[in-house]
Amino acid sequence: MDFALPAPVLEALQRVNARGHEAYAVGGCVRDLMRHVTPHDYDICVSCPPEETHACFAGERVIDTGVKHGTVTVLLGGMSLEITTFRADGDYKDGRHPSSVRITPSLKEDLKRRDFTVNAMAYHPASGVADPFGGQRDLAAGILRCVGDAPTRLSEDALRILRALRFSAQLNFEIDPDTGRAMRQLRGRLALVSRERIAEELLRTVRFPAASRVLAAYSEVFLAAMPDFPACALARGVQALAGLPGGEDALGLAALLHGCDESRRHACLASLKLSKALDGQVSQLAHWADVPFSLADAPVLLAQMGREQMQRLLVLQQACGTISPKEAAERSARMEKALADGLPLRLRELPISGDDLKALGLSGPAIGQTLNALHRQVLRGELPCDREQLLLAAKAGS
Ligand code: ATP
Ligand code: MG
Repeated sequence: MDFALPAPVLEALQRVNARGHEAYAVGGCVRDLMRHVTPHDYDICVSCPPEETHACFAGERVIDTGVKHGTVTVLLGGMSLEITTFRADGDYKDGRHPSSVRITPSLKEDLKRRDFTVNAMAYHPASGVADPFGGQRDLAAGILRCVGDAPTRLSEDALRILRALRFSAQLNFEIDPDTGRAMRQLRGRLALVSRERIAEELLRTVRFPAASRVLAAYSEVFLAAMPDFPACALARGVQALAGLPGGEDALGLAALLHGCDESRRHACLASLKLSKALDGQVSQLAHWADVPFSLADAPVLLAQMGREQMQRLLVLQQACGTISPKEAAERSARMEKALADGLPLRLRELPISGDDLKALGLSGPAIGQTLNALHRQVLRGELPCDREQLLLAAKAGS
């Protein structure tokens, strides 16, 4: 089997070979090339120690990324390549990290410590594919399987349990029964995984359309990773996920969480420690997922959440069955019209201000309330965006 590796990757392999060492493209990039998917990055494994890798790339920018694990990053021809010395992991002490890392001269040993058979293949243009654990067979059959004994591999590093869910969704693969059984048995060990890593894998899972199938099949594993998530809300979450086109983290997570009550949802989100921006997006989407709103209110919501978020909401509401595709299209058109018409999306864009209302005799909280009410009416198309008319309306209301 022949793959077209990018020129900088070929050059990296050659530079290491030229000094008498082995070098291969390895892991996800080999898997993706075999699936005819363009890899988003290329990892390289080499038989020489990191100091020697440095020497192979003299004159280039080399960054010591993870010296402890034998990884250096080389910037070559505009690509950033992670180059890692063949290694075998020692005992795992904390259920997450090997307590020691041993350099090995054997490619097979290096492939053996990798998580899944489809991720445990290497490639060099001269020698072809190295696949000692049946990765190609599993890739062809669409099966995700641990390298070696599943219970052992998943207890070594509990993160692999979540990586299994993620890859099963990402590749749309079935999980091998032995691997699946071990995932369920060992799900309690997910408590050993940091919340940040749980969040990362969960987000990388829910962005794929197959996530609904995977999370439904492995609900107890998901619930072990998210102890705050109420089991009774999972069926609705999974159903909404199934209706999404995929591709968006915020949408995927909001779909999954929308069936939880507000306080549980808040607890789940807090536990994931997402960025403030993503957290805000997900909460807002989940909050509105089941709330139908009238066509006239579309510009009001647009003013509250912005165009992109509003587009997400329309996708989500369809996935949740809150609105029909026709209703979504109408709301989307109304929103676009509001934008094209230049409706005042922000309060301060209204042609009247608090001072005008004060001059009419209003004071205290009544000023803000009246302004907001007028703004809403303008957005709903009940009042023109006209200073005189708004002053008249304010007078009539006061
Ligand atoms: P993606 O395309 O999503 O980046 P990937 O296969 O490149 O997928 P990475 O997380 O980037 O996944 O890891 C690179 C490789 O390192 C994997 O293909 C796998 O061989 C190995 N690997 C990563 N994490 C682990 C782990 N926790 N246990 C064992 N092997 C791992
Ligand atoms: Mg990768």
